[in-house]
Amino acid sequence: MPKYELPKLPYDYNALEPFISTKIMTLHHTKHHQTYVNGANAAQEKLEKARKGEIEIDMKAVLRDFSFNLSGHILHSNFWPNMAPSGKGGGTPGGEIADVINKNFGSFTAFQKEFSTAAKTVEGIGWAILMLDPMTNALHVVQIEKHNTAAISGLKPLLVLDVWEHAYYLQYKNDRATYVDKWWNVVNWDDVEKRFIL
Ligand code: MN
Repeated sequence: MPKYELPKLPYDYNALEPFISTKIMTLHHTKHHQTYVNGANAAQEKLEKARKGEIEIDMKAVLRDFSFNLSGHILHSNFWPNMAPSGKGGGTPGGEIADVINKNFGSFTAFQKEFSTAAKTVEGIGWAILMLDPMTNALHVVQIEKHNTAAISGLKPLLVLDVWEHAYYLQYKNDRATYVDKWWNVVNWDDVEKRFIL
């Protein structure tokens, strides 16, 4: 079975300065994201060995581990291209995604407020995510705790924001709200639009 791999960042580690520091981006990508990749591969290997009868596993524990690590890998792989270098990101979306946001939330401002509030109020560690429901084409703002708890199955992430402390603490300390507010400056709306259309 193919192994999961750490994707390359689509910009340099310092590209999101001053909104997200070089140090955070370096550690977050090379250490934290890599850990989820390794964890997903380790769980997959255990499942493969168990299938061949080479080992016995605690199925529930391994699947729980797989869910956590693979979800972490998938969300981080979505997070990096959701952001663009300072000066190239931020602002308001255009195109189809702008229309659908207005239709679903009433206005871009209303969407932004809802998403920010979701991000600021995640209990403990987790994510705020703009999801597309492929069955109805509706957009939903959801919170996920850790990487995989309280998730709604089958929804497609368009825009994700990591609010684990490792995503902001070195720069913003305990002030998650300021991190969330500054993060809008680096949102890559072209990438969000692309994910909506695909
Ligand atoms: Mn993270």
